[in-house]
Amino acid sequence: MDCRNYYSVRMHASALGRHISGAERIVTPDKLDSVARELLSRALAKDRSPDHIVVTIDDLSGLIHRSLTALDVTTLNSSADPAAARADAARLLQATGVGADAVEKAFSLLSRGASPSGGNMRGAMIMDARTGERLEPDQERGVRASRFDWTGEAGEKMRTLLNEQGLVHERTYEALALASKIADSPGFISELCWSDDPEYTAGYVSSRLTGYVRFPCLKKEGDARGGRAVFIDRKKFDAAQFLSFMEEEAVLIERTGQCRPDTDVDHFLQRIGSDVRTGS
Ligand code: AMP
Repeated sequence: MDCRNYYSVRMHASALGRHISGAERIVTPDKLDSVARELLSRALAKDRSPDHIVVTIDDLSGLIHRSLTALDVTTLNSSADPAAARADAARLLQATGVGADAVEKAFSLLSRGASPSGGNMRGAMIMDARTGERLEPDQERGVRASRFDWTGEAGEKMRTLLNEQGLVHERTYEALALASKIADSPGFISELCWSDDPEYTAGYVSSRLTGYVRFPCLKKEGDARGGRAVFIDRKKFDAAQFLSFMEEEAVLIERTGQCRPDTDVDHFLQRIGSDVRTGS
């Protein structure tokens, strides 16, 4: 990937100091104008009018960069009951090597608001996968992944694959890109996420082993608590290196993975177990 010809375009909209919406893209110079307008329209399209909109454009010349393949996507059409879905998500996280205590701690913190003041964080918690100890330098804000996007071709193909599974929401497309970047971070083991949007109940577990596994209902409708927990192998963790990857390094997703449904977690775990054994 040649970053001399790419720009990062980021939008952040807020009202009375509270975040309303944000989005970001990586584009070639010929698309700068149209994409900056597109993100501005998006900021203005929200129901709650922003009083502050920032569109930031950075030349990515000289920044370390890499190209990635998106994580495989599995939609688990299992339980509409959040408690049962969380139990399934916990099993997946443990299958990726996260300790039971760390899993429990992540669910408990994300359910009640993981920032020390009790609210949602703007970024992700970083947790030692063995002990659940929090490693992010700023627990109020967390660590935000930035500077990632699909190439035009991969993005189009991914939209088609997701649409075929009935996943037409822009959120899934964007969350998959974000999860694919995070999955390439140094020391990464797995991630747990559900949205803080009270209307949007879906969430996911992602890892190299499982890919991106989407649960339609990880919380009750109306619940405004959400966030992300990234589980890390502490032996491989270096805070400065991790932050620089998440926030600075540009990543373009150039290839899509597979996209398929599964009936339940038992069947899914059996399947990936046999994929691992047969090397497929
Ligand atoms: P969302 O999926 O956009 O509803 O975000 C859910 C939660 O994920 C937020 O409350 C944040 O805690 C976290 N989050 C959102 N965007 C990012 C990001 N770019 N990097 C890391 N964490 C994020």
